[in-house]
Amino acid sequence: MDFERAHATLAVEEALKSQGNARVGVVIARRDTVLSTGHKGERSALHAEQVALAKAEEQCIDLKGAELYTTLEPCANSRTSRVPCAELVSQAGIAVVHIGTYDPNPQVYRLGWKHLRDCGVRLRDFPADLRTRAHDATVDFTQVFTKGFGMNAGAKFDFTQNGGRFTISIDEEPGSPSWETRWSNCGARAIYMNGGRPGVVALARYANEFIEIDDPDALDYEGTSARVEIGSIGVMRNDDGHVLCKVVAIEPTVDYGGTGHVSVTIKWEVRTRGGQPA
Ligand SMILES: [Zn+2]
Repeated sequence: MDFERAHATLAVEEALKSQGNARVGVVIARRDTVLSTGHKGERSALHAEQVALAKAEEQCIDLKGAELYTTLEPCANSRTSRVPCAELVSQAGIAVVHIGTYDPNPQVYRLGWKHLRDCGVRLRDFPADLRTRAHDATVDFTQVFTKGFGMNAGAKFDFTQNGGRFTISIDEEPGSPSWETRWSNCGARAIYMNGGRPGVVALARYANEFIEIDDPDALDYEGTSARVEIGSIGVMRNDDGHVLCKVVAIEPTVDYGGTGHVSVTIKWEVRTRGGQPA
């Protein structure tokens, strides 16, 4: 139906208002009437669903039987003290949830969907073209960041700024498991991932995909830094677990033939201790 398409489109537009590299937008509607909207970060560290639900509650809007459109599958597992959005959505009495894209992390994938289904919520997918737009909004490689969030996400940043620091956290909530990665110049085809001391970083030698790394503790952590070539994976560990970082692209510094734009593009996957989100 046309209004479903309009609401899904509006959710993508909401997502694009989010700051950061994991942008999410939500629309709550009853038939053709929009009841509430929200995007990630609109209110401090709240998820888009939390924002839209809170705004509706403040206006005393009854959401029983309403439909929620979200560009990203609602979160389901409590990695932190936050109540998962899938739970909030089902508790609000939402009857149908339309999903734009699914969390790519196998530890998360379809858990929100499953939770909602088990609560009797009907699940729909966005139309194919809007799924692509929702996905592109979620993983945005065009901005420059010093922080990244998510269990499985990516970012592009200037490694000559901020001491090459790039902090990866599984969630924007304070106290979430985080890894402060540091990157430095190595050449046109490789970059150093620094730990500052032995025992912190390792190169996943010969591995090109995260799935090839079974137990990241089995890697060699003797060096103080790892030289990671494009297409290869460096790993940083701490008490919370590991972050696996694949170097996707490098814009080298001028002395290595660069054009003046300096960046490294990485994708990462977090492995928390015990293999399960804490
Ligand atoms: Zn959430």
